[in-house]
Amino acid sequence: MSKTALITGITGQDGSYLAELLLDKGYKVFGLRRRTSVPILENIEHIKDQIEFVEGDLLDLGSLIHAVKLSNPDEVYNLAAQSFVGTSWDQPVLTGQVTGIGVTNMLEAVRIAKPEARFYQASSSEMFGKVVETPQKETTPFYPRSPYGVAKVYGHWITVNYRESFNMFACSGILFNHESPRRGVEFVTRKVTDAAARIKLGLQKELRMGNLDSQRDWGFAGDYVKAMWLMLQQDTPDDYVISTGEMHTVEELVEIAFSHVGLNWRDYVVVDPKFVRPAEVDLLLGDCTKAKETLGWELEVSFKELVTMMVDSDMKKYQALGN
Ligand code: NDP
Ligand code: GDP
Repeated sequence: MSKTALITGITGQDGSYLAELLLDKGYKVFGLRRRTSVPILENIEHIKDQIEFVEGDLLDLGSLIHAVKLSNPDEVYNLAAQSFVGTSWDQPVLTGQVTGIGVTNMLEAVRIAKPEARFYQASSSEMFGKVVETPQKETTPFYPRSPYGVAKVYGHWITVNYRESFNMFACSGILFNHESPRRGVEFVTRKVTDAAARIKLGLQKELRMGNLDSQRDWGFAGDYVKAMWLMLQQDTPDDYVISTGEMHTVEELVEIAFSHVGLNWRDYVVVDPKFVRPAEVDLLLGDCTKAKETLGWELEVSFKELVTMMVDSDMKKYQALGN
């Protein structure tokens, strides 16, 4: 019999890839969606007719209980969050409420309305922050460096706590940065690939950025949602690091993106203190041995393939607009 999944954050990058994956597997997919004045469904436009939407907000427990009751899910993927580190310093309370307490709201809704449903929490490598060991794995202590990272640590531990307190099948995926053509434009990868395309097409003159030295372990979102699904198919719930095990600087990212369209990045990139963060995460590098061995999870897209895929997609988008 086909399974049913409820995805929060369905309109975001990961929600869209996960919905595609689950629909392909024959799931009935429900998506929790916030009410907005103008619907923004860009990432899921192509599959929206196959998704059953439920209105709700992570801050509103009643709406979450309703969503769980209505969908009666076998699996719940909690991907909704205020997900941008930069904004978390401007809106720290909201970030704590949505990205932290929102997880408790979702867990409560599941515990009350469908306690046997399997639950996935979108934890983050930002929890490692000022890293205390490299590479980072499941046992590495957390040292978050932003209100976002702090909220994610809360979300992570409350998920572990519900597993241990109520015997719920609750898993936490500690995912390192993952990107795609559907990534929000404020994140560094998409900001760079979008700008490379715009500059190439004469739509933009320069690109203002922050710290070019920081290093990240960047993978492809389409590969990472497969790991989320695999976690909920195991016999026992557990937490897993998902990463590529490769680290690159922001400068390397810029270099690959600009040279892909035949430009020298040094002619266009300007470092602007406005984009330098109050506290930086200098490097993140994940060790996903556990996920590879236990889940059999494998990567398909390399860093260079990821960046060039994103630049090509941005070029196509602007060219289709007649530029
Ligand atoms: P996005 O920012 O693309 O998507 C976030 C989603 O959350 C959107 O659908 C948004 O809806 C929804 N949302 C925000 N606030 C609320 C709220 N109050 N109630 C209900 N829904 C809300 O994030 P990603 O897809 O990139 O990431 C998915 C999850 O994984 C997030 O929790 C993120 O923090 C986490 N994560 C992401 C990583 C990455 O590299 N991408 C790395 C590690 C963890 P709307 O469209 O209405 O704004
Ligand atoms: P994060 O790892 O979740 O914070 O993902 P981001 O894509 O927002 O940032 C990754 C890294 O890029 C961080 O170390 C940022 O400081 C660095 N960075 C440098 N310039 C920029 C910029 O202009 N925008 C963003 N978002 N990040 C930048």
